[in-house]
Amino acid sequence: MIKLVLSDIDGTITDSRRVLSSSASEQIRNVQDSGVIVSLVSGNVIPVMYTFRTYLGLKAPLFAENGGAMIEDSITQFFTMDRPMAFFRHLEKKGLAKGIMTNQWRLCSMGFDPLGTVENEISPLSAQYNVEITNSGFSWHILNVGQNKGFALHYLMERYGLRPEEVLVIGDNLNDIPMFMDGVRKAVPANAEEELKMRADYIARSGYGDGSAEILSSLESF
Ligand code: CA
Repeated sequence: MIKLVLSDIDGTITDSRRVLSSSASEQIRNVQDSGVIVSLVSGNVIPVMYTFRTYLGLKAPLFAENGGAMIEDSITQFFTMDRPMAFFRHLEKKGLAKGIMTNQWRLCSMGFDPLGTVENEISPLSAQYNVEITNSGFSWHILNVGQNKGFALHYLMERYGLRPEEVLVIGDNLNDIPMFMDGVRKAVPANAEEELKMRADYIARSGYGDGSAEILSSLESF
């Protein structure tokens, strides 16, 4: 029986333009009302997660910056800004990256638009700074080593004392792979990247938020 649902936001409970899906929102509320713990994890920032938690009426902690920070009644920061900022400054100085607007609210990661090629110029440099680069499909992020959605999932499983088979994760892009762990149930909307579809127990018929609404409305089948 599923006791915890951990979902991505962008492309998973939104449409392709990032507009929040009303069908997914409604199902999230239904699932929580049925007694299941519902949490969200995103590359986005704490103020955005505050908004989701408040206006969707979620009770569980939510995770910003790919798991690096958590909000409930207070904010918990699991990682620091030192390394991501140092690497971002380096990229900026070399003319390889431009910061994104949400950086002003970030605690432990930096978002950027690449001005150089990520594979050839940016990624090789990241090892020197001991940081990781990830792409949500909507933006690029510089993260500390170990700062990922799997970290958030581990935290929740430990906090609520859950076994892997009691957890359902939903995501659509490469930065969701760390939470697509062995033993947990995995579902994806139809727009998900092939790498996620390969790992998924269930692929929704619909894409984006409608696909996640479909997944959430049949929770008992997991
Ligand atoms: Ca996503």
